[in-house]
Amino acid sequence: MPLEPWQRISQEIFEAWLKQLSEETDLIDLRFGWKLESILESETGVEATVTDVNCGKTVKLTSRYAVGCDGASSRVRRSLDIPLDGGPVPGFVLLVHFKSNDLARLHKQGRFWHLFMTGEQVMGGADTFTTHLFLPMDADETKIGTEEAVYRVLGGMYQPYEVKIDQVLVRSTYRPSVAVARKYSSPHGWIYLAGDSAHQNIPTGGYGMNMGLGDAYDIGWKLAAVIQGWAGKGMLQSYEEERRPVALTNVERSGIHMAVHAAVPKILSGFAHELDANTDKGRQLRKEIHQHYQANDGENTDLGIEMGYRYTSVIIVPDTTGEEPSWTAHEYNPTTWPGSRPPHLFLKDNTAIFDLFGKYFTLVHFIGERDEAGNTEYFDEAAKVMGIPLKHVTLKNEDHARALWERNLVLVRPDGHVSWRSNAISHRSTALHVLEVAVGQHFAAIRGSVDDQLVAVGPGREVAQQANKNSELRSNSNPAKFTIAEYFKSQDKDYKLDKMGDFQK
Ligand SMILES: Cc1cc2nc3c(=O)[nH]c(=O)nc-3n(C[C@H](O)[C@H](O)[C@H](O)COP(=O)(O)OP(=O)(O)OC[C@H]3O[C@@H](n4cnc5c(N)ncnc54)[C@H](O)[C@@H]3O)c2cc1C
Repeated sequence: MPLEPWQRISQEIFEAWLKQLSEETDLIDLRFGWKLESILESETGVEATVTDVNCGKTVKLTSRYAVGCDGASSRVRRSLDIPLDGGPVPGFVLLVHFKSNDLARLHKQGRFWHLFMTGEQVMGGADTFTTHLFLPMDADETKIGTEEAVYRVLGGMYQPYEVKIDQVLVRSTYRPSVAVARKYSSPHGWIYLAGDSAHQNIPTGGYGMNMGLGDAYDIGWKLAAVIQGWAGKGMLQSYEEERRPVALTNVERSGIHMAVHAAVPKILSGFAHELDANTDKGRQLRKEIHQHYQANDGENTDLGIEMGYRYTSVIIVPDTTGEEPSWTAHEYNPTTWPGSRPPHLFLKDNTAIFDLFGKYFTLVHFIGERDEAGNTEYFDEAAKVMGIPLKHVTLKNEDHARALWERNLVLVRPDGHVSWRSNAISHRSTALHVLEVAVGQHFAAIRGSVDDQLVAVGPGREVAQQANKNSELRSNSNPAKFTIAEYFKSQDKDYKLDKMGDFQK
């Protein structure tokens, strides 16, 4: 389980908080009203052409690196001519985000988060709600009033249902789409994609922004490591290797959640108006819908997707001493298997183990009655020589934590994922090689470097073979196909989704 319980926060609140935070830090130069026209890389860096939309002034900005977090219609992705593979889901949606104390009375029936009104959807906070009115593609949403849109959703398949709306916070449209970019970086590795520019999914499951934050965290610490000079070329290569498979899995999963709702009209098949009736048919329909949702309840309970994702990349040292623990979309299986996020737990003095991690790498070292881990100072020495910031955390007689963490030594990365684990270290060279792989210094020669670990890391040949196999798998960037998509399309420079906003074109 995570250290903090997960929280639900409206994007409207989250983004305002993030904006304020960004304005307060000297590390960020926030410029609203500037539009990126195009971005290019040379062999040495990046040149971006941007326009101040208020006065029309265009300037060129140069930098070493750039990360395109410019949303689904990303100019960065289009400038780089990176194909986006996937397709739209039928229809488009008129969304209204509003406050209503009147509607808040619904919570007396039990607090809810999502309310599906056979065909439409309502999301509810205490007194703040969002309605999603699904429309056919040819509908003209400008002819639908904001209040009318809310009433139509609340009425579901019946007449529009009126409530007193105190304040409309947002009115907008979105076109659901499932797609993943085929590459996450430019050919020379100076420009990267993150967030919706790299992947798009439908809102079911709530994966979009969560994945975007995951991307930002992953590319963020890796760029820092490269700029600070203690990482090799494999570090940035691992970004796509780690984050793209997560996107492929989650985007497909969001479609599976959507299909669960889409199946309801089939269950009702012609008897929708009997759903509320006190008849045998009404009871049978309600039972079938109940069973359908009980059997397909992954939308907000797929903990394997939300917490259990594991990375395989050139900077993860594979564990060849046992079988990888099973993974399913629905279950969270706590493990320190390399590439996973280690489990949170409280130590004997009630300290959360995560709170002991350093800002960069952390070697978590469990010591029992007998010290079985060997010469762990080899790690400190190797890190010092290589200039890698490493915190060494020694935990004595923490038997419960040791059992859950599965190994005496666990090397944790700055983003909290496991780089390597083992029970012992007996050679100085092993520490050096593990760290070299963990910071991507053996990008080109990973086989050699891992082979050299034979003595201490485990049966080295398998380690090397596995690392090689993983590299091959990752470089095989096949176009992604998603079951929910209306049709499959690969788009590049000419990316055009129906109903794009003017700013996106
Ligand atoms: C109805 C709905 C419900 C959702 N619910 C959830 C949820 O519950 N959980 C979740 O995790 N995610 C959810 N999402 C997804 C989430 O909103 C997105 O994944 C997230 O906003 C993507 O963030 P981003 O920064 O990558 O892109 P965006 O939010 O699209 O931001 C891109 C930014 O770049 C700017 N920009 C674009 N082009 C240019 C240009 N040429 N020059 C300068 N600036 C430019 C845009 O103005 C914008 O500010 C939902 C989405 C929708 C539509």
